Amino acid sequence: MESLWSDSEAERFVERYAQQGENRDTALRVYTTRLLGGDPRLVLHGGGNTSVKTTAQDLLGDDVPVLRVKGSGWDMGDIEPAGLPAVRLEPLRRLQALDALTDEDMVNFQRGNLLDSASPNPSVETLLHAFLPHKFIDHTHSTAVLSLTDQPDGDDICLQVYGDRMGYVPYIMPGFDLAKSAAEFQAASPDVEGLILHKHGIFTFGETAQEAYERMIDAVTLAETRLQKGRKQVFVAARMPEQIAKLSEVAPVLRGLVADDLGADGWRRMVLDHRTGPEILNYVNGADVARYSQTGVVTPDHNIRTKNYPLLLPAPEQDGLAAFRESAEIALETYIADYRAYFERHNPRQKSPKTMLDPFPRVILVPGLGLFGVGADPKAASIAADIAENTVQTITDAEAIGVYECVPEDDMFDIEYWSLEQAKLGKGAEKPLARRVVAVTGAGGGIGSAIVQAFAREGASVVALDLDIAAATQAVDGIGGLALACDVTDPASVDAAFDAVCERYGGVDIVVSNAGAAWSGKIGEVDDDVLRQSFELNFYGHQNIARSAVRVMKAQGTGGALLFNASKQAVNPGPDFGPYGLPKSAALSLMRQYAIDYGADDIRANAVNADRIRSGLLDDTMIAARSAARGLSEVDYMGGNLLHREVRAADVADAFVFLAKAERTTAAIVTVDGGNIAAALR
Ligand code: ZN
Repeated sequence: MESLWSDSEAERFVERYAQQGENRDTALRVYTTRLLGGDPRLVLHGGGNTSVKTTAQDLLGDDVPVLRVKGSGWDMGDIEPAGLPAVRLEPLRRLQALDALTDEDMVNFQRGNLLDSASPNPSVETLLHAFLPHKFIDHTHSTAVLSLTDQPDGDDICLQVYGDRMGYVPYIMPGFDLAKSAAEFQAASPDVEGLILHKHGIFTFGETAQEAYERMIDAVTLAETRLQKGRKQVFVAARMPEQIAKLSEVAPVLRGLVADDLGADGWRRMVLDHRTGPEILNYVNGADVARYSQTGVVTPDHNIRTKNYPLLLPAPEQDGLAAFRESAEIALETYIADYRAYFERHNPRQKSPKTMLDPFPRVILVPGLGLFGVGADPKAASIAADIAENTVQTITDAEAIGVYECVPEDDMFDIEYWSLEQAKLGKGAEKPLARRVVAVTGAGGGIGSAIVQAFAREGASVVALDLDIAAATQAVDGIGGLALACDVTDPASVDAAFDAVCERYGGVDIVVSNAGAAWSGKIGEVDDDVLRQSFELNFYGHQNIARSAVRVMKAQGTGGALLFNASKQAVNPGPDFGPYGLPKSAALSLMRQYAIDYGADDIRANAVNADRIRSGLLDDTMIAARSAARGLSEVDYMGGNLLHREVRAADVADAFVFLAKAERTTAAIVTVDGGNIAAALR
């Protein structure tokens, strides 16, 4: 591993943060914390922390010795000084004299000694940083170091690699006891450059930011070099089916599998994040995967994101999805039963009884296909997948030089159910459409992008489909959704788009079939080509989308919502608008047919009947022409409804959101037109 330290870059940090009133120590602490946090081989999602002992001025103008230590909720890769809360150092150090300290007292004492009461909670490893004498301290969960320590003889291997350069601390849960032990180990060998925490990670120390950082890089490089020596072949491959089923077919089955059936309350769904590649396949396809993948996580704090064990499934054979689904269901039942048993085994030991977390897996291993991160949203799923990928690397290297072993299950349980670890997950109330995946067609247009925005605000993961990929990309700009090119009149293009959605998120729950365009002409005189063109888009476009969506929804088995953008033309036809109104009437019947045919699958079909919206369908030129033809001003025309109010794209979007949430409504039409009695349904 290369050191990324740069004198000139370091000075730039010092200058930049001086302007914000931060001292040199803090600026350099930010600099090397980011260097460490930017490399997933060192730090992943909240694992690892850093500190510096420096001074800060209090309100009275006195210089106070402080520990600036990583705060909870900050990512080391993009940390700012605000992510390194300042805690009065002397009181922290005096805690070392105590024999015992509860977690609650520790957290309270740390908060009570913050210089700024608005700071985030200091790291759970704050006392370890405080009790050690060194100015700069770096802590990572380095993949290479874990591959060495996560062995039955991990201490011996590390001793051979590091000799007396490092101190060796047996596994102790983070908190007061570990902080005291680490300080005692260091005091016994004051010249060590750092500490190896057995089956947990590594600390390095330095008088300068550069020294602590480069000692970390050196130590990790030594571990990497050791891992290249005497490697045995890992892993022997198991026999695989000749043809593996497609990812886009397997993913919805898995997404349905891990959705929790809440009965009358519907489903508690998950989003998936698939990863594959030669190393992952080598790992999941191994004949012995049931052993090494079910040993436990590589460092205890991973289990708050991934649980201790992944769900291991058989390889899905092409054309064998029904059998795969059946064995996957059995595997999940066993997984859940095992998780409950694990909870029952360890909960009685706890000082205060815990409430069991949901027993569903956060990582799924599928031989032949790779691994899946599972989470409430794409971010949580990707964190689980990142950690799972890192686990593949750590265990592969550990097995190449020995046998992988992690801390015992009771230590894992203590971390998984430790309130200070659970606090890292920062649970807030979920938004109404969290855990849902929604695809919107015609997403690049005025109404389409309003729909995309409305669903994103409600917490759904959004997929923008549009003929024009640039317009689709624009629609999800800043909201982190997926943009795909899709021609709704081409069934192959539609199927490909839904396959891509399944590959990205695992499936889809809500589809807003919004794409459309207006053609006009007197019906007895209009060219057949015009009529057929309009039917292709305004009828078959909806049919192609609904058919493909239903295919995915049925594979998930968790219901779904089909939402169509209808038109007042379907209810209240206007003169010369036959080419537009006829396929729209058929689309309205299409909605009802889907409601009838798929109600038993809990798939709902509903429509929004919108009128006089400034959008792609009714642009400014058309509005000007129509209002002129009626002898009305533009404002009077647009507001020419019972409410005398202009209807906006956002109003239409809100109606789609309403129908998506209306779990007991199907075959309904919601009118959004400000009131037009001629288009009222009867
Ligand atoms: Zn740690």
